[in-house]
Amino acid sequence: MHHKISLSQFITEQHRQSLVNEDLSSLLNDIATACKQISHLTSQGDLMGTWGDSDSENIQGEVQKRLDIISNDYMFNALNWTGHLAGMVSEEEDEPMDIPDIYPRGKYLALFDPLDGSSNIDVNLTVGTIFSILCCEQGIKPSHQDFLQKGGKQVCAGFVLYGPSTMLVLTTGQGVNGFTLNQEIGEFYLSHPKMKIPQDTQEFAINMSNQRFWEAPVQQYIAECIEGSDGIRGKDFNMRWIASLVAEVYRILTRGGIFIYPYDFKDPAKEGRLRLMYEANPIAFIVEQAGGLCSTGRERMLDIAPKEIHQRVPVILGAKNEVNRLDSYYKEFDACK
Ligand code: MG
Ligand code: MG
Repeated sequence: MHHKISLSQFITEQHRQSLVNEDLSSLLNDIATACKQISHLTSQGDLMGTWGDSDSENIQGEVQKRLDIISNDYMFNALNWTGHLAGMVSEEEDEPMDIPDIYPRGKYLALFDPLDGSSNIDVNLTVGTIFSILCCEQGIKPSHQDFLQKGGKQVCAGFVLYGPSTMLVLTTGQGVNGFTLNQEIGEFYLSHPKMKIPQDTQEFAINMSNQRFWEAPVQQYIAECIEGSDGIRGKDFNMRWIASLVAEVYRILTRGGIFIYPYDFKDPAKEGRLRLMYEANPIAFIVEQAGGLCSTGRERMLDIAPKEIHQRVPVILGAKNEVNRLDSYYKEFDACK
């Protein structure tokens, strides 16, 4: 059999080339361990009675699935003792999570969505874990402000996809690499080196049921895609919508496309649907490292100065030429307002 590079080997080699330091390499291995536990849990389906809603809500007012809570515990317990982190932020916790006083605090911050797409759990569709790593002052007890760094400051980001196979997609700022979990051996192996998003596409992903609430730039962009070869695009488009961010992004990383979750007037007070700190930012870092773009339509995602740890943002990501096209429609629209 062809020799495959394990995640441990890959991280060690990155460390030898001084691309990541020792703390970060060790932290990445610990994150991988937590994700293997979540992978095992999700692969069991409801055999252990873990499907369904819990009796609590998260800060966004969403009912937490039982698996949301268990996955959050796995992440917290796999990372709190390591000495590499000063604190953590999770989608499932209103406030940043402190490192227990019995353990040393390190110089990194971890922000994560322990189980993305968890509304898909009960229908057995792909879910995932998304994580983002930022730096902070060594040993501090971080405040909200310490977490509120621009996405451009991330030192590492990744997501794990619990689909027919479990995959880890990772960037430390030198491109994007994909690893597949060998379930028997319990190790991730490099299966998709140097992932790249094609600059053009004929596939878009958007929740069409919100169409009447969209702003004009999105209306125009999607109308032109649907006109296909009869319209100014001169080519036919296909539509995809899995309603699971990690699954959409993985598809775009492997065969291209554009994903749009825009601002809309359905709930005008909400800036967007997806969360900036532990969904949009890590995904944007990965997408840009793979040669794609990620914006809100009006601003590059990684340039946003965050205001709150659970802030929501509109998200447009994927093929460079398509994101640029839609961004230019926003620019024209805003210029005429
Ligand atoms: Mg999520
Ligand atoms: Mg989640």
